Amino acid sequence: MTPAVARIITDLTLDREFDYRIPEALRGQVEIGRTVRVPFGRRRARGFVTGLAEESDYPDLKDIEAVVEGPALFDKTMLKLARWMADYYAAPFESAIAAILPAAVRREGARFKRQLAARIAEGAEPTGVDEAVLAKRSPKQAAAWARLKELGECTAAALGEETGVSLAGLRSLAKKGWIALEPGVVRRNPHGHVAVLPTTAPPLMEEQTTALEAVRREMDEENPGVVLLHGVTGSGKTEVYLAAIQAALDAGKGAIALVPEIALTPQTMERFRGRFGETVAVLHSHLSDGERHDEWRRIAAGEARVVVGARSALFAPVRPLGLVAVDEEHEPAYKQDEAPRYNARDVAVMRGKMEGCAVVLGSATPSLESYRNAREGKYRLAVLTRRVDRRTMPEVRVVDMRIESEKEGGARLLSKDLIEAVRLRLSQGEQTMLFLNRRGYATTVMCPACGHVETCEHCSVKMTYHKNTDLMLCHVCGEVRRTPARCGNPKCGAPNIKMSGVGTQRVEAAVRRMFPQARVQRMDSDTTGAKHSHAEILGRFRRGDIDILVGTQMIAKGLDFPNVTLVGVILADLSLQMPDFRAAERTFQLLTQVAGRAGRGDVPGEVLVQTYTPFHPAVQSSRHADYATFFDQEIEMRQVMRYPPCERLTTVLFKGRDEAAVNACAKEFAERLARDLPEDVRLKGPAPAPLEKAKGYYRVQFMLLGRTTARYVPALRRMTKAFKLPRGVSIAVNVDALSLM
Ligand code: ADP
Ligand code: ZN
Repeated sequence: MTPAVARIITDLTLDREFDYRIPEALRGQVEIGRTVRVPFGRRRARGFVTGLAEESDYPDLKDIEAVVEGPALFDKTMLKLARWMADYYAAPFESAIAAILPAAVRREGARFKRQLAARIAEGAEPTGVDEAVLAKRSPKQAAAWARLKELGECTAAALGEETGVSLAGLRSLAKKGWIALEPGVVRRNPHGHVAVLPTTAPPLMEEQTTALEAVRREMDEENPGVVLLHGVTGSGKTEVYLAAIQAALDAGKGAIALVPEIALTPQTMERFRGRFGETVAVLHSHLSDGERHDEWRRIAAGEARVVVGARSALFAPVRPLGLVAVDEEHEPAYKQDEAPRYNARDVAVMRGKMEGCAVVLGSATPSLESYRNAREGKYRLAVLTRRVDRRTMPEVRVVDMRIESEKEGGARLLSKDLIEAVRLRLSQGEQTMLFLNRRGYATTVMCPACGHVETCEHCSVKMTYHKNTDLMLCHVCGEVRRTPARCGNPKCGAPNIKMSGVGTQRVEAAVRRMFPQARVQRMDSDTTGAKHSHAEILGRFRRGDIDILVGTQMIAKGLDFPNVTLVGVILADLSLQMPDFRAAERTFQLLTQVAGRAGRGDVPGEVLVQTYTPFHPAVQSSRHADYATFFDQEIEMRQVMRYPPCERLTTVLFKGRDEAAVNACAKEFAERLARDLPEDVRLKGPAPAPLEKAKGYYRVQFMLLGRTTARYVPALRRMTKAFKLPRGVSIAVNVDALSLM
């Protein structure tokens, strides 16, 4: 029997599905994943079909009004994944549906771009006589005809541009029956027309081969599992993904490769396109809506089998799916910061399970979560211990800034050792990267007379002084203020405002002063605002037009410059001092990644880490890229503190402009929830979040910690559905929160 009832999730935020009757006329067209129009109260709504049934428990169903043209946007597996996300991340179901479908595909009227196109008409076999006549009477039409014979098909616009033929001219050719003129699909191509040279796969090194075998073994399993690929930077992890993707293609399946947004450089794309050509589709945030729509549809149609993209590319409609690779799996960028607050790495594992496809997670510094899973045998572990071509790992030297500042009689930005090392590179024509994870010039603008510090009016943070603009900037909300000549405290007003604390601009200034002959460039989000400046700076660096590149974490990740032989970390302590339980983990990751930038070519690299806490485990372990030691020490801490991954953390944040209302709401929510929680779940707070106020909104949060999220998420989800938030207060549930910030 054909189903008579459809279950619909509307695009209204109700976190509920509704049943509708399928009118006779529409039966057969209504299927899972199709977009429909339905009456809703006195309005109409758009929705997606999430279920079909023969009857409904509800009486008096309304009829579906229309089925929107276009393909089904998801299948049963993706629907199941969306349901799982909503449940697991305690998020409204429609937000999970929105997450799996790009807006460019989901929105009303999303379609291919059509343009008038000309093609040789079927059966058109004009004789030579006609052509000769045409050439005399209308040379432009003749030129267009000749060109079209070469191309077979071409848009009218392009033909006009090339041959000067007018639309009337083309119409006249169409009238003769030589060509057909009708709207055709024009693919919006995000690769532009950049040709990429095809590459062939290199023979794999021994460790790579073993790793590939581990992945292939999972691919062959009936219920494929997860491989954690732990490989030092430059050990050839990407080459393993490429080989595994090839294996998926050979098996008649497709693959998805996720990379952090910041690593989606033209370089990365070229590697995939070079190996797999036109079957590669990209999905990331810099595409236009049109490009994203077309790429998505190309994947859905099976024309593109390999998808490379950031977080949301995980939901690409690759079918059948043979492999998901998640590069830099530890990256916080995989966590979405709006509902559903999913971690693409974890959802990848779940999608793999549901689709029956293998998943490979790769990193030089795996998350404690993944490494623990590997230790416990839940994931298969593959290791790459050596750099390709036996290049040596760079030597890491820790510079104790306490001793340095004692010797030099005060704190210096650049230690003697670092200055010497840079000088040596300059003299040898080699390149240097200097790294500091904070932009701006000075991080504190203070009156030395009364201690008044310039803070943002809307956020609970200090203003940062930017020298290039001579303005103060709030790094949370972007508020810009004039730098005061006198103290802003009305009772003080003293002159001589003091700037302290370092940012990349100050490092840049110091380097320019110290090495006036060097070509210095800074790269952080202040210098890369314009669309292509990021790529432009990296291009100049690659060509050797820059001697010293100063930057934030932007320069720390995934970049491969053979001529960089020195990396300096200006202050390792910055990330260690973050008020967060992952501070050590993040520091270790950062130092290891940064160190990985040095010595990618023939000359061995050197890394200098300046720090005031030289004996911190995160600093010490990074000296030898000694992940296992770091893991053992850190996991013990987490065990004692009962923090992730030993227990699962969820934060629930309340935001609003009215401080009292936010506090009261958080308190009531937490109290009511607490009654519904099992005893072994800890609820801590509510208390002001570390960032107490941002963009004018007060932020109060509580934490939940339990052995598994299943211990408390169901209760939490019930509460979020039942609790009526007061006007002006919003809630953000973050299951498996990565930090307490
Ligand atoms: P990772 O992803 O671990 O940082 P890559 O896969 O980018 O490492 O490899 C580092 C460099 O070594 C790249 O330039 C890559 O082309 C090269 N490479 C990787 N594997 C091989 C191999 N088996 N033979 C030759 N070159 C390789
Ligand atoms: Zn602000």
